[in-house]
Parts: sequence; structure tokens; C-alpha cells
Amino acid sequence: MKQFVVIGLGRFGLSLAETLYDLGHDVLGIDIDEEIVQNVADSITHAVKADATDENALRALGVRNFDVAVVSIGNDIQASILVTLILKEMGIKYVVAKAQNELHGKVLYKIGADRIVFPERDMGIRVAHNLTLSNILDYIELSPEYSIIEISAISSWFNKSLSQLNMRRKYGLNVIAIKRDGDVIISPNGDDVILKGDVLAVVGQKHDIENMEKHL
Ligand code: ATP
Repeated sequence: MKQFVVIGLGRFGLSLAETLYDLGHDVLGIDIDEEIVQNVADSITHAVKADATDENALRALGVRNFDVAVVSIGNDIQASILVTLILKEMGIKYVVAKAQNELHGKVLYKIGADRIVFPERDMGIRVAHNLTLSNILDYIELSPEYSIIEISAISSWFNKSLSQLNMRRKYGLNVIAIKRDGDVIISPNGDDVILKGDVLAVVGQKHDIENMEKHL
């Protein structure tokens, strides 16, 4: 069990905090808004009203002892930067910060955030891939260069083995898992045969993935 502190309980912060709590972790939620704090009180370990830009308030809450801090303040960019800086200066090992845009993300990274998330941008990218091709069920960006897609098998793949499909050669892509009837075949090999209804998790460079999408 890890200890998480989530600062800013808007839609993103709240859903993250509740999920971590449901997964069995200790979660302290902090928000400047009293009403928000009251509403979340029963769904995480502790919820406290505080202005996170106030270093003394964070110290009094013992925030420095947490394993991971998540800064989920979006609109007030100045507050998000200040809080991230305070948390890193306090010595918290892993600080995740939510960025409103690329520039905000760059600043957060420069002041020491260990991970930057762009929920709106990433969701926009994911939904776009899914909308343009109904076979693409999900799209996850691993880095600026690499992504993973989840794709439902198209009919021309049915009853063919991965060696026959030869995605590695054709597109430079690797099938890392096959989902079938609630089971998952991890690291399938060349002999594994694609069946109707299968969902494939495929990893590769973004331009190779886009190239495959165009040929579906
Ligand atoms: P989301 O999209 O996740 O709903 P958002 O990006 O619109 O959120 P904001 O609404 O700006 O982000 O902030 C999220 C939460 O952070 C709000 O509930 C707000 O009350 C809280 N918050 C803002 N500033 C501070 C602060 N200095 N200290 C603690 N909480 C704060």
C-alpha cells in the first residue's frame, strides 16, 4: 500500500483519488474549496481544506511523508507551478502534475515534476483515433514517438497466424497481447492464430501505427 496526496479535487483529481483509494491505497485529498472537501470525505482516506500554495499548511499536514503527490490544479497555472515547486523542495520523491497545455507542461518539467499528464490533450487524441476508425478501441501514447493501440481484428486477419500477418515486417509493429473472451494472451508468438472477436494490443512508432490505420 502506498500513500498518495492529491492536491486539487476537480474532475481529474477526484477520479484519480477515488480510484487510488478503491485500489487499496491511502489517499489524502486537499482542496481549497470547503464544499468539494465535504463531498469527497467519505470516498477517500482523508480530505482536508487547505490552500496548497501555503507551504506551512502542507507541512502541518505532513505532506512530505507521502510517497507520491499529484498536483491536479489546472486553471490556476500559477498555483499549479507553485505547489509543484513546494512539493519538490520538500523532498517528495515522485510528483505528478497535470498540465493545461504544452508550455505549462514544460515549466512543470523544468521545476522538477517527475511526470506530467495532459488529460484533455491525451483524451482528444484517443477519441480521434477511435472516431476515425471504429476498429481502434483505444490509443495510448507511450512517448512522443511510441504508442499502443487496441484494435479489434478485421475480417482479413481471421484464422491467420501472427507470422502470416507479419505486422512486424509490413508495418514495423509488434502485437504484445491478444484479448479473447475475457482472457488475455500475453506476448503471443508467431503461431498464435487470430480469431473473430479478438482484440489486439499493438505497439510501435506513431507513424507506423498511422500507416497501418490507413490500410485497414
Ligand atoms: P478538472 O478539469 O480536473 O475538473 P481543472 O483543470 O478545471 O479541473 P481547476 O478547477 O482549476 O482545475 O482546479 C481543480 C481543483 O483544484 C478545484 O477543485 C480547486 O478548488 C482546487 N484548487 C485550486 N487552487 C487550489 C489551491 N491553491 N489549493 C488547493 N486546491 C486548489
